[in-house]
Amino acid sequence: MDSINPHSGQTIATYEPYDDARVDHLITAADTAFHAWRTTPFAERARLMRAAGAVLRARQDELAILMADEMGKVLKDGLAEIGKCADCCDFYAVNAEQFLSNQVVATDAAKSYVAFDPLGVILAVMPWNFPFWQVFRFAAPSLMAGNVGLLKHASNVCGCALAIQEIFEEAGFPRHVFTTLLVEGSRVEPVIRHPLVRAVTLTGSTPAGKSVAGIAGSELKKSVLELGGSDAYIVLEDADLALAVTACVKSRLVNGGQSCIAAKRFIVVRPLIAEFTRRYVEQFKKVRFGDPKDVASDMGPMARADLRDQIHEQVQQSVAQGALLLTGGAIPDQPGAYYPPTVLAGVKPGMRAFDDEIFGPVASIIEATDEADAIALANRSVFGLGSAVFTADKDRADRVARQIEAGSVFINGLVKSDVRLPFGGIKQSGYGRELSSYGIQEFVNIKTVFHAAAPK
Ligand code: NAP
Repeated sequence: MDSINPHSGQTIATYEPYDDARVDHLITAADTAFHAWRTTPFAERARLMRAAGAVLRARQDELAILMADEMGKVLKDGLAEIGKCADCCDFYAVNAEQFLSNQVVATDAAKSYVAFDPLGVILAVMPWNFPFWQVFRFAAPSLMAGNVGLLKHASNVCGCALAIQEIFEEAGFPRHVFTTLLVEGSRVEPVIRHPLVRAVTLTGSTPAGKSVAGIAGSELKKSVLELGGSDAYIVLEDADLALAVTACVKSRLVNGGQSCIAAKRFIVVRPLIAEFTRRYVEQFKKVRFGDPKDVASDMGPMARADLRDQIHEQVQQSVAQGALLLTGGAIPDQPGAYYPPTVLAGVKPGMRAFDDEIFGPVASIIEATDEADAIALANRSVFGLGSAVFTADKDRADRVARQIEAGSVFINGLVKSDVRLPFGGIKQSGYGRELSSYGIQEFVNIKTVFHAAAPK
């Protein structure tokens, strides 16, 4: 498994995948660790989780460089990601016990309550785009709930995958409470089917999600899926246009456009579309892309050359289908997996720029006749992850928000994940929730305990 620096194209490390015997041994060791970990008091789990946060903060510079080298994230974004992971550790250290405390329910029993027991070994299949954040937002709640974690990370970020196990060990977690498995995607199936693996979560593309969910379903194991998106940002005629354009540009370029909740479709009502498009293109043209370790770069390369080529193909086909290319759209003549910020206008349903998820810095501008048309266009997608609405009218914003088929709707701002709020999607963006109290309850046995009343 090779780590290839997408800026230089050079192979920076090669990792030997773990063989089947080693994988089996690690799963068994994880299950053994679970039996001690599940009875470890919350206060001790919280102490260790805070320590993991402290290790992350102490190692933030080195970890940001690792991400820049393995998948091209610019350093300032890498530092912010590590800070967010540390905050997530602290959040669950503080709140997990309360989120999972017994809930007494008045019934005809002498006493009845709901308890939340851990399930055991949970497998996490994770993507490269936020190589630390995606993992910590699974691991912090799962370990605090008393589960143990197995990580199968994306094959191009093995260095990050191993660093995460090291962080938990350095923080003092017992061995095998968190284990990285270096295996390719094609070898996930036997891990899901392993009798000691109780559940699986996958963050990644919709095809990978369908495959993992199918295998988990055939074993009757719980799954959570955080998949792709084609988030719609609706700009209504009473919007603050300057604010809307800035937010729409920023959201499309988060992580070089390689974010599940990056805005992808900009649905603008007719009276504003000409001015919105003019300002949008102007701002896109100013974006500097280059070496992710150069502080002058706003954006690095795409994570892999094959992914960059896929983006280019989607753009070219969209143009062939009638979209107007306003800027970008050509692979730059330089080494590395670079793709320029690209704007497509006149995008309509049936074009790839409307129907697909484009996982890179490509904006699709779509015209709507009015509010109802904008909502219909937003919902005309197989995905349902995030969405945003720009309007000066708060009541109108709430009314529109409730009609959008998505896991979150943000008003007059960018869609983002916040550890205090549930995160996830509907339709082909997946199911289940991460973060907040909802996230920690995904991988627990919600158990009824009932003390029968003494006979009268
Ligand atoms: P990906 O190709 O689906 O890979 C994600 C993970 O799944 C990797 O570890 C990959 O392993 C593994 N995998 C791929 N195919 C598999 C299969 N058939 N069975 C089991 N495992 C499989 O996605 P990606 O390119 O890394 O990430 C980009 C996608 O993730 C985008 O669609 C994005 O929207 C989505 N995403 C969603 C969220 C969310 O919260 N909803 C967050 C971030 C990203 P290998 O690397 O070994 O192939």
